[in-house]
Amino acid sequence: MKLNELNIREAQAKLVAGEITSVDLTKACLERIKEVDEKVHACLNVYEEMALLEAREADLRREKGEKGELLGIPYIAKDNILARGTKTTAASKILENYTAPFDATIIKRLKEQGAVLLAKANLDEFAHGASTENSAFGTTHNPWDLECVPGGSSGGSAASVASDMCIFALGTDTGGSIRHPASLCNVVGLKPSYGRSSRFGLIAMTSSTDVPGPLCKNVEDSAIVLEAIAGQDKNDATTIDKEVDDYKDNLKNEIKGKKIGISPEIVGQLSGESKEIFDEAKKKFEELGAEIVEVSLPNAKYGVPVYYIITPSEISSNLGRFDGIRYGMSSEETEDLTEFYSKTRGKGFGPEVKRRIMLGTYALSAGYYDAYYLKAQKVRTVIKEELDRALEEVDVLITPTAAGPAFKIGEQSDDPLKMYLEDMFVSPPSLAGLPAVSIPAGFINDMPVGMQVIGKRFDEKTVLNFSYIFEQATDYHKKKAKL
Ligand code: GLN
Repeated sequence: MKLNELNIREAQAKLVAGEITSVDLTKACLERIKEVDEKVHACLNVYEEMALLEAREADLRREKGEKGELLGIPYIAKDNILARGTKTTAASKILENYTAPFDATIIKRLKEQGAVLLAKANLDEFAHGASTENSAFGTTHNPWDLECVPGGSSGGSAASVASDMCIFALGTDTGGSIRHPASLCNVVGLKPSYGRSSRFGLIAMTSSTDVPGPLCKNVEDSAIVLEAIAGQDKNDATTIDKEVDDYKDNLKNEIKGKKIGISPEIVGQLSGESKEIFDEAKKKFEELGAEIVEVSLPNAKYGVPVYYIITPSEISSNLGRFDGIRYGMSSEETEDLTEFYSKTRGKGFGPEVKRRIMLGTYALSAGYYDAYYLKAQKVRTVIKEELDRALEEVDVLITPTAAGPAFKIGEQSDDPLKMYLEDMFVSPPSLAGLPAVSIPAGFINDMPVGMQVIGKRFDEKTVLNFSYIFEQATDYHKKKAKL
């Protein structure tokens, strides 16, 4: 096995035993990036020199007796997460030359623990999308089939883990962007509860649902990374003062007799092989001793329409800061300020970003606010309460993650509504702020599909526990893309 193929636990064992150094591990990942990223295009910028320096430093720290699960472990971060001294473009032309002046809290925490940043990963521009086709710097290809999308918006992060360019990656999830590409690339993608991991230093999309989280090769690694990045941050007032659970120690808890909720309304939307895979997962959980309980979620189907009112509304406000003066690219000088703004933004933003700014501005404007934004917020509350109620009866809920396996590049890109429907299962937990993970659950025509496990707010522990037990009883996560 090549070093870049290791997971966190395996790599750490070799580091501790002195069999390898972080420099060896980092070099193996950098070589893998050189070998396959021309085809995959998961990375926007690779920081070879910086990574090797950080790796050397991690090795020195270890020599001095320091220990830690992430000490010397190389990772890749989505390019809407600020890491000091790296370009942070959010895959947008408007930020093409923007270099981050500080570290996001999650990057800072990983640095403190000695993790090694290798590269910044591709995404849909400003994280708007479900395929990475909206990146201003080219689409990422799915390592399982290079003609297919990797999902999105954290498509670069998911593809980099699936093709072993790194040991783990960071993504952000606003309405599915960690879970969706995880499902399409056969990796584990964890969206923590809103407020569990700090948003400080993320390029804001939809501030009321944005959450950063890990994309990993297995559930245990996800628990390790979450433990490292989670917790209160004084720079993000929505993170709360609640102790971070010991996720690793609870992975093996007994799930016999515990309850899993399945919604007939959601199952009713499934057909063909997607349904077979979901039924198989349900059966597996029953074999493992969990009790399956029907829970009604009649309003989950409004997740997509509600999300696509709220998200553009917040985007239209959040992206107001990209005016050509404070950040990034500026249009050539003009006499008139309004013209300056419109030229900069006209050139700097891609079509999907513009579509969302227009939709959001419309939904928030006088006369339409009540009919769209306010109504959407009310339905959001209904969805949230419905999920909370269901989760009072059961320990976790399960659904498929995505509408299906990866689709061909270009197949859906001129049909925004179809693209938005990719989010039908992942948007409700985002609107409700609940933790949710996507884990490998099967294959359709050799392409991976995931299952989503949703838990109570701040109960990542249980979500990871159920996911781990399922993973250990199945082989899906062991299958690797052949590149
Ligand atoms: N597909 C969703 C969107 O386009 C997901 C975005 C996200 O989670 N960043 O909005």
